[in-house]
Formats: sequence, structure tokens, C-alpha cells
Amino acid sequence: MKKGTLYIVATPIGNLEDITFRAVRILREVDLIAAEDTRHSRKLLTHLGISKPLTSYYDHNKELKGSYILDKLKSGLSVALVSDAGTPCISDPGYQLVRAASQAQITVVPIPGPSAFLAALSASGLQTDSFTFEGFLPNRREKRRSKLSTLKEEKRVLIFYESPRRLLSSLTDMLEVFGDRNVVVAREITKVYEELMRGLLSESITHFSESGIRGEVVILVAPDNSPGKIDDKPLGELLRHYLFAEKLSLKDAVKKVSLETGLKRGAVYEEALIISGK
Ligand code: SAM
Repeated sequence: MKKGTLYIVATPIGNLEDITFRAVRILREVDLIAAEDTRHSRKLLTHLGISKPLTSYYDHNKELKGSYILDKLKSGLSVALVSDAGTPCISDPGYQLVRAASQAQITVVPIPGPSAFLAALSASGLQTDSFTFEGFLPNRREKRRSKLSTLKEEKRVLIFYESPRRLLSSLTDMLEVFGDRNVVVAREITKVYEELMRGLLSESITHFSESGIRGEVVILVAPDNSPGKIDDKPLGELLRHYLFAEKLSLKDAVKKVSLETGLKRGAVYEEALIISGK
């Protein structure tokens, strides 16, 4: 008997327009949809005008439900796996099912779409050529700090998911472990109160202490790059560009270059003073 196909379908992370034509077609065509939270996904399906059998697949029933879904696939049914938001298996349940399916010679097809960390990175202005996605940090402070310590020397952009409840604690721990680096906190991406807060870790702590934190966040921390070239552009060249071509103020040019290069603001400021003859 021909086996079914397992589709890993990305769904919106807020804005319901962020779903691909292909995702809609697959959700329409499959026999069964396995969802992290069936009530949550039902709303999306209703919005799309799709009525399909749904079954739950989440962390605490994944063993039992995994074999149920596998049996359906083996019997020739096709199944779409969706999570509450974004791409399944990315800090969401699913990889064990994918592994079991591929071990059972079942075809697994990704249907790409939104993922919060990629959306955040793409609009962050931080270097995008190499980065490391770390998912959620441990909840407990000691464990979180020790995890952060292992990442201190990392030369790539660090990307974390965080709950709004722990945002300030995590930013504070980052400041203590990493020093005052550039950070981008991407909040409520694709939603009404979307915000990309760019600045130093200390500034982000002040900002969110004052404004309060609502909604979902991604934290992106710039590496502590040693002075030199970034993107093969010497520091002076970047500064001249912002100061003279784009005519930014000294303060804004320094902020921008510091954010782009990951260099400490003080070091960029000194160079900017020389270049601008102040
Ligand atoms: N699978 C999802 C993905 O592909 O992005 C991630 C699921 S994970 C359980 C949920 C976390 O993703 C949230 O705690 C938050 O850190 C981040 N997230 C999800 N949607 C977001 C949004 N609209 N804006 C900012 N962060 C978001």
C-alpha cells in the first residue's frame, strides 16, 4: 500500500495574511491535520474556509499521538502538522514525529513560511551572514546564566525566544554576563503593536522597565566583535558614509555603525570624532 505524506506546514505568527498559497492548498488537500492546539488552529482553518479532521499533537501526548499519526500515514493518509504559530519543530513539538516518519520511509515535505526568529533577524539590521538560534533560555536564573556564559565568546549573532514575563530578567543576565552589547528586541512581529527596539542591553532594560512588556519577543544580541572590518568595510568608511553621504548627526551615525558592526559605542565615537574633525 502506498504510504501517505507528512507535510510540515508553517502558519502565521500574528498576521493571518502571512500564509502561503501552497500552505492553504496542502491544508485543504490532506486527510488529517495534527495541531499543537486544535482550538487555536481551528480558528485559522475557519478563517481560511477549511474544514478538516483535526487531532492534537503536543509535548505531553506526543508519544501516544505520534504512533497514532504514524499509523494513519502508513495506511496511506496524508497528514499536515501545524503548530500554534510559525514553523512546526522550531521551539515547537514535531521533530520526533518527523524522525519517526522518515525512519518508517514516509515522505516528509516542508511547506515553508513564517518563523519568528527569521522575521526578527531579517529586520534587525544585525549581521545576517552567520548567527546562532538558541531557542528558549532556561527558566532558572543559575542555569540561564551558565548557558549565557557558554555563549559569551560566540562571534555570531545570538538569537533567543523569550516569554514577556522573563524578558527583563534575561536582558539583565545578558548585561551582566556579556557586558553592554547591542541588542534588538523584536516584539509582536506582524501584529498591531509590532516593535523593533534597537540599542544597548542597558537601554533595552530601561526601555522595557518604563514601557512594560506585552506580547511575544525575540531577543537578538550582537557579538562582541573585535575592532576591524565588518562586511569588509573599514570602520572609517562606514562612518564617513553615514556622516557625509547620509548626513546623519554624529550621535546617530555612531549608534548606527555600532549596531551594524557590533563595536562598542565608545570606540566608534572616538573614531567618529577624528573623522568629523571635532
Ligand atoms: N514555531 C515558532 C516559530 O517558528 O517562530 C516558535 C514557537 S515558540 C513556542 C514561541 C516563541 O516564538 C515566543 O515565545 C516568542 O519568543 C516567539 N514568537 C512567536 N511569535 C512571535 C511574534 N509575533 N513576535 C515576536 N516573537 C514571536
